[in-house]
Amino acid sequence: MLLGVIADDMTGATDVALMLNRAGMRTVQVIGVPAPGAALPEADAVVVALKSRTNPVAEAVADSLAACEALLAAGARQILFKYCSTFDSTAEGNIGPVANALMRRLGAKLAIVCPAFPANGRSIYQGYLFVGAVPLHESSMKDHPLTPMRDSNLMRLMAAQAGTEVGLVDYTTVLAGPAAVKARLAKLEADGVRYAVTDALTNEDLMTLGHAVSEQVLLTGGSGIAMGLPQNFRRAGLLPERPGPQDIQAPAGRAGIISGSCSTATRGQIKAALEAGYPALKVDPFALVEGRQDAAGLAAWALAQPADKPFLLYSSDDPAEVAAVQDKLGREKAGGIVEHAFAEAARLLAEGGVTRLLVAGGETSGATVLGLGVRTLEIGPEIDPGVPWTRVVDGPEMVVALKSGNFGAPDFFLKAWSLLR
Ligand code: ADP
Repeated sequence: MLLGVIADDMTGATDVALMLNRAGMRTVQVIGVPAPGAALPEADAVVVALKSRTNPVAEAVADSLAACEALLAAGARQILFKYCSTFDSTAEGNIGPVANALMRRLGAKLAIVCPAFPANGRSIYQGYLFVGAVPLHESSMKDHPLTPMRDSNLMRLMAAQAGTEVGLVDYTTVLAGPAAVKARLAKLEADGVRYAVTDALTNEDLMTLGHAVSEQVLLTGGSGIAMGLPQNFRRAGLLPERPGPQDIQAPAGRAGIISGSCSTATRGQIKAALEAGYPALKVDPFALVEGRQDAAGLAAWALAQPADKPFLLYSSDDPAEVAAVQDKLGREKAGGIVEHAFAEAARLLAEGGVTRLLVAGGETSGATVLGLGVRTLEIGPEIDPGVPWTRVVDGPEMVVALKSGNFGAPDFFLKAWSLLR
């Protein structure tokens, strides 16, 4: 392995894994802290997906260090601590404390702080983070329920969280190229500065920065900073030319869709699948509670359908219906019972010969992956922005795509299959 990535949430992990994959690194995503001593799969880059953004600080630090240990043991030469491009963090951190701990573990003297992601409108100028045309603290992030961002100055934010001085690699230096950035970083390090916020407005800037940090053992930033890293390994002769994947090998077997997502995009995708004549069964939370439906029955129904079209198991409903269910059962119980049924059904479906599975819904995906006993996914081609096919590395032989609610075009459930070999 060349690059180890520690991501502070699940969708962020997929995001950075896709970025690396597109740039020609074979990438796998590991869900949760790897068990001590467990071997990580062979790949150019391994991304460990943690839930460390809003955990108590001590937990976030411990999980990140455990992930770092596993990545180093598997041969990682460089570690990227990946957080959100809007620097989502609480007043206590967790970005600063986690970065400090990784820095100590890796013996790094200085690390860059670069959440810039120009493709999504996140840019940094004079150390201030912008979301589109407005500074971070004027964007909708100011009202985020868990991580409200009320300051846009990354030097100030990082200095407060990490308890140390933070410097700047300004835009003029970035424009001057990798050598100038390197010199600036060396100067900051010599002055005893521990972190350097890097200005970046375009992908080209991220490529310059990526080039300049080839020898830094620890990097911190958003998925944008990953863009320039594969090229470093290629220049060093460590990474062969690999085109980004166009399709993915799927074992022979049946195809199906599980959807517990009630988001607008998913409901549109279900409508398109119904119109295309996919055999479909609607899952009713009340029927699950009353025992009129259960996981075994759902799986048996799916496996009994003609195999020429993917089957569709869905509980997705419009907001009024969901509210009515939640009123009667409670939000947690309603969600839990549906997730549990889908998780168990997924396990039975894999046993019954399903090898190609699309799952819609963030929570639903989490539960399904758990039900399948999957911890490691190899990233394949992107179906729609942010949603790749993945191959299960350590569970049943199958490919899965995990789609969070609002992702994907209306024909997502129709077109995804054409990327499978
Ligand atoms: P999304 O990514 O669209 O937010 P999630 O899977 O994360 O989808 O969340 C949807 C939640 O709604 C899950 O907990 C799921 O079990 C629950 N759910 C699914 N269908 C229904 C329904 N018909 N009534 C109530 N809750 C439902």
